[in-house]
Amino acid sequence: MLVLGIESSCDETGVALVQAGGGAIPRLLGHALHSQVRMHEAYGGVVPELASRDHIRRVLPLTRQVLAESHRSLPDVDVVAFTRGPGLAGALLVGAGVACALGASLGKPVLGVHHLEGHLLSPFLSADPPEFPFVALLVSGGHTQLMRVEGVGQYELLGETIDDAAGEAFDKSAKLLGLGYPGGPALSKLAEQGDAKAFALPRPLLHSGDLDFSFAGLKTAVLTQVRKLGDQVDARKADVAASTEAAIVEVLLKKSLAALKATGLKRLVVAGGVGANRHLREQLDAGCARRGVRVHYPELALCTDNGAMIAMAAAMRLDAGVDVAVRTYAFDVKPRWPLDELSAV
Ligand code: ATP
Ligand code: MG
Ligand code: FE
Repeated sequence: MLVLGIESSCDETGVALVQAGGGAIPRLLGHALHSQVRMHEAYGGVVPELASRDHIRRVLPLTRQVLAESHRSLPDVDVVAFTRGPGLAGALLVGAGVACALGASLGKPVLGVHHLEGHLLSPFLSADPPEFPFVALLVSGGHTQLMRVEGVGQYELLGETIDDAAGEAFDKSAKLLGLGYPGGPALSKLAEQGDAKAFALPRPLLHSGDLDFSFAGLKTAVLTQVRKLGDQVDARKADVAASTEAAIVEVLLKKSLAALKATGLKRLVVAGGVGANRHLREQLDAGCARRGVRVHYPELALCTDNGAMIAMAAAMRLDAGVDVAVRTYAFDVKPRWPLDELSAV
């Protein structure tokens, strides 16, 4: 079974082709991505209207590219999957519209996929795929959640951020340091040259006793620190970056370990853009190794948004028999859509 996946929830247009069926883990045949980061950079954030228009420009050329690189043609596709939500409504509608038009013209079923389920299942595309059950740490630009995952579609929310997401904390702190948008990767690069103990920044909710997160206060603390440094800020930028990264990573590490302890599970799956962070990976690897816990990550290139994770989630749903692709082609999108609302049947 060949699944074509289309991602267009935010500022990345992603298309991918996955081969599924036969009981094996679905295999990625090809994927292509266009990031709009350059386009939105000048505005310091994503401009929804520009995002939608650019998805329209990119999605068909990317689809042709993926098919050509995978040595397949459109009629070979068995199911067309698209990101149904959460995300920007206008951007989601582009992927949904194109997927349904393709499905209708080919006479093939379409399947709307949850974007976070895509992130969550993306480590199954790695060389070291996980096995169910596991604890998932979902750390992206819009979400920070710990979940207990028993299988495809079986997601129990254990805790989540009560304000900003971890990726947002990286991006907002980076902005305060003049590192552009989205500044997470730049902040983490700069942090490598800095002293993580230089500034004592808050570790919000570290000892709250639950599995929730809060990162809004950290951004304020970074702002206060930057103001205090005044003229010296340029000379101390790397130290501020390292201290910020250390604060975020420590909270993510401690809460993940607490979730593992609470559930008794011995497997952790990390997903979402912040999962690309090198320091986070080192800390999780070390902390989990000491407790006999295995950690699984997506390939670095598949941590942030992409089409491969959407095709993969659709393929795994179909393989598990937990969802039915439809042929009605009357699509809708869900800009707001909690992951634990997904069902296993
Ligand atoms: P969501 O999936 O919640 O809707 P999103 O799709 O915008 O949000 P992702 O694409 O998963 O989020 O991830 C983007 C985020 O990851 C950004 O906040 C970015 O700064 C952050 N990020 C990417 N690489 C790194 C890194 N190496 N270190 C820290 N943060 C990073
Ligand atoms: Mg993005
Ligand atoms: Fe995402």
